Amino acid sequence: MTRRRIRLAAAAIRAAVLGLALVWVSLLAPVSTFAASPAAEGRAVKSPIVIPVLLYHSIADIPGNPVAMRPELFEAEMAYLAREGYTPLTLESFLRILYGNEPSPPKPVLLTFDDGYANNDTVARPVLERYGFPATLFFCPGFEGQEGYLTWKQVRRLQRAGWSIEPHTMNHVRLPDLDLVLQRREIVESKRAIEKRLGRRVLAFSYPYGEYDERTLEALRQTGIRYAFALKDDFASSDQPPLELRRLVASGDQTLEEWAHMLKTGRPLESRPTSRTPHT
Ligand SMILES: [Zn+2]
Repeated sequence: MTRRRIRLAAAAIRAAVLGLALVWVSLLAPVSTFAASPAAEGRAVKSPIVIPVLLYHSIADIPGNPVAMRPELFEAEMAYLAREGYTPLTLESFLRILYGNEPSPPKPVLLTFDDGYANNDTVARPVLERYGFPATLFFCPGFEGQEGYLTWKQVRRLQRAGWSIEPHTMNHVRLPDLDLVLQRREIVESKRAIEKRLGRRVLAFSYPYGEYDERTLEALRQTGIRYAFALKDDFASSDQPPLELRRLVASGDQTLEEWAHMLKTGRPLESRPTSRTPHT
């Protein structure tokens, strides 16, 4: 090989390596959109994977009810996600992406609904179907069929529409008020009811009122549930304990702008800190 050819070959190798590096960086880019800026601790620190998880409850026009969101506002928020290029994930995909087992699509987000309001089927589902967005419902089987709550028929319709149905205790109890045996009963019974009715294994859990204690974590471990969602306004992150993943509450009191700010920063507008320390 002449010296010139060697130089050309070396240049080609450099270009190939640079090309691969660029491909690698562009694969990571959607995730790093939400990643915290690299910490000052040093170059060896790997950025955690960070994904916003939004929490909804009732989609209904009930003035003064903080867990109810006007259908027009919900529709506007879903339109915003579509317009801004967000990718709502299935729960399965969310977990694979969060733990680095699947490449992330652009701007990933997980949409979750707690409790099991009937309007999740009659109002939210048609909106999400229009945009092709999947969602996750944390359901209390003890509420099934009560006025204003989903029936199993409706829950199955949500499942067919691409929703993951997961447990939220049987009766929406404050778990830390109960001893370990009763906590475990609330968790196990809700898990079993959903698995029996829907014919699939549940993957995750969410805490009523966002409340849990050490016994709750132990009860979940005994039950075989590996992932659980709390409230704690923040993005979910791969460096949070998997039984304490954080969510952002999409409130009916927020304006679209306040909600969009929360989605982008992981903080509601009113409690915006001067310097953010999201992963402690
Ligand atoms: Zn709840």
